[in-house]
Amino acid sequence: MNTERVSLGMPAAPPGAPGTVGGLADGAAPRPGAALRPGAPGSGLVDQFGRVATDMRLSLTDKCNLRCSYCMPAEGLAWLAKAKLLTAAEIVRLVGLGVDRLGVRELRLTGGEPLVRADLVEIIAALRRNHPSLPISLTTNGVGLAGKAQALADAGLSRLNVSMDTLHHDAFLQLTRRPFLDQVLAGIEAADAAGLRPIKVNAVLLRGVNEGHAAELLGWCLERGYELRFIEQMPLDADHGWTRDGMITAAEIRELLAASFELVPDPRARDGAPAERFEVRRHGSPTLLGTVGIIASVTEPFCADCRRTRITAEGKVMSCLFSRTEVDLLALLRAGSSPADDAAVAERWQDAMWAKPRAHGMGHPGLGDADFVQPDRSMSAIGG
Ligand code: SAM
Ligand code: SF4
Repeated sequence: MNTERVSLGMPAAPPGAPGTVGGLADGAAPRPGAALRPGAPGSGLVDQFGRVATDMRLSLTDKCNLRCSYCMPAEGLAWLAKAKLLTAAEIVRLVGLGVDRLGVRELRLTGGEPLVRADLVEIIAALRRNHPSLPISLTTNGVGLAGKAQALADAGLSRLNVSMDTLHHDAFLQLTRRPFLDQVLAGIEAADAAGLRPIKVNAVLLRGVNEGHAAELLGWCLERGYELRFIEQMPLDADHGWTRDGMITAAEIRELLAASFELVPDPRARDGAPAERFEVRRHGSPTLLGTVGIIASVTEPFCADCRRTRITAEGKVMSCLFSRTEVDLLALLRAGSSPADDAAVAERWQDAMWAKPRAHGMGHPGLGDADFVQPDRSMSAIGG
């Protein structure tokens, strides 16, 4: 078993200690918390360990126009038939259920690549009409964003994350298997101009490909006021090529950046955010240049404070990225037509979340451990 810092995802506080979410110390038993059980008034999306999901990630499509090697195979995947995808109306209904009945407080639209969905702008406009103050963000690879950023902003999108792993054309081509870096750069610029701020840039580092570009990418983001977040590579690639020894760890990322910048932990509370944030300065300079985030899902997991509930493009609840159990809401949505069915859909969603595994889709954190089984779905088919 890998022991490197994995215990950090499990607070040492005893179960139920004030200020902890779950207090999932190693060996801790589930806290049934009868008052919070699904179905209890105000229970929301609570799980058996006492964590409450308020952050909804909804995948709009499994399709994508890139083939990032850490996510998709070169030949792509067998795409879902359109009839199997949630329709715009079903998406609006599910978000409504989440927000109005189940305590969802923020929404992220993702995929696959959400920009390939032709009715994206209409979906966002409808969500915004129904939920005027809900933070609605989008995670995109930025391809085609330049022509859509203003329409997305006008429809009511709050902000977006653009995934871009390098500023080098050759490395971009190697990582994504497509020559679209200039489109991504133009997309980020257009999103900035449209006011979709703060713009966050997501980057995954692969050994021997782009780890040497980390500090340069950070400098580029800081100059423009974008927040860069490095994501540790997780075992969610369709090729099942991930290895614990091959991935670049958060500790290595901090070292790579330290050659050019001084990083100091951001004093602001993390408050359930997956990224650990650092203030960034040049060595020997007091001037704060901005912040950088590191999402260390593998080596410094934050499962104990997880607030996410995920719905796939075909309407299945995944309580955890690494869960191998899915609960079908679409079948229920399509079985009935009256608003009275809302209670049944909400209850099934709650049941799915109640069963959320403790960490990394199993009973303990440890993505490289012998008992970890990679889910059949790759990241693009879950919704990152
Ligand atoms: N296509 C959009 C994009 O790339 O931003 C949205 C979906 S993508 C699955 C969401 C995020 O997951 C991206 O930032 C991507 O870099 C990240 N991602 C994909 N596969 C990953 C993996 N195996 N490990 C870590 N992050 C991954
Ligand atoms: Fe597509 Fe995003 Fe996966 Fe890359 S990470 S293949 S852009 S879904």
